[in-house]
Amino acid sequence: MRRKLLFGNWKMNKTQAESKEFAKESIELRKFALANDIDIGVAPVYLSLETVRKANPDLIVAAQNCHFADHGAFTGEISIPMLLELGVNWVIIGHSERRSYYAETNESCNKKLLALEANKMTPIYCVGETLEQFEAGKTKEVIKAQTLEGLNGLGKEFVSNMVIAYEPVWSIGTGKNASKEIAEDICGYIRELVHELYGDAADKVRILYGGSVKPENVHDYLTQPNVDGALVGGASLKVDSFRQLIENMIK
Ligand code: PEP
Repeated sequence: MRRKLLFGNWKMNKTQAESKEFAKESIELRKFALANDIDIGVAPVYLSLETVRKANPDLIVAAQNCHFADHGAFTGEISIPMLLELGVNWVIIGHSERRSYYAETNESCNKKLLALEANKMTPIYCVGETLEQFEAGKTKEVIKAQTLEGLNGLGKEFVSNMVIAYEPVWSIGTGKNASKEIAEDICGYIRELVHELYGDAADKVRILYGGSVKPENVHDYLTQPNVDGALVGGASLKVDSFRQLIENMIK
C-alpha cells in the first residue's frame, strides 16, 4: 500500500522567521498526519531549509531545485552536497515554473534525477502540459516525453521510491483545478508508463496531483486509485489551510 503524501511548495514565499513559525506550528500537525498514515512535507526557499528542518525535524523538507554538478562555476546555483550538509534529502525537480522561467528541459531534469539517485535522495519530479497542449489534445504525448526522458537511465529501486507530480500548467495558481477524472486519467497513465519501464516499481511510486488544490477539493483527488496525494502551492502557505488539507484528505 502506498502512503499518502501532502507536500507544500512554498515557492518564493516566507522569510526565515515565517518559515520557522509554520514549522513549529506543524509539529502537532505532523503527529496527526502520521497517525492517519499521511506523510507531510514542505519546500521552503533555500535560505529557510535548515531553519525549518531544525524547528520540526520530523517534517519532510525539500529544496525547490538543485544543480546536477557537485560544485563549479554556476553562479546562483545550489548543489546536492550543499543540501545534504543541511540534512535535506528531498528535492523538487522540473516544476513548471522552473521549466518556463528558467529553461529547464526533460534533459536537464534527467541529469538532476541521475545526480539525486547517485546521492540516494528523493525527488518529486513534476510533469504537466500547458493550456495550449491540453486544448490541442496533446496531454498524453507531453506527459509521455516528460516521463520517459526524465526517467531515462534511472534504476528500479530509485524509481520505486520517487514521487512524480502531475501538475497541468493551466491549473497552477489559476484556481482552475483539473477534474478528479482528468487527474486520475493522467496519474494512471504515468503509472502505466512506469510499469512498462520498471514493472512492479509502478505499484510503489507515489504519484501526486497538483494545481489549485484547496481544502475544498483535496478529498476528491484522494478518492482516485492512482492519486496518492497532492502537491500544493497557495493553499500550503497558511498552517490552518495546511491542517484543513490534511483533515480533508482523511475524511
Ligand atoms: C505548485 O506550485 O506546485 C502548485 C500546484 O501551486 P497551486 O497549488 O498554487 O496551484
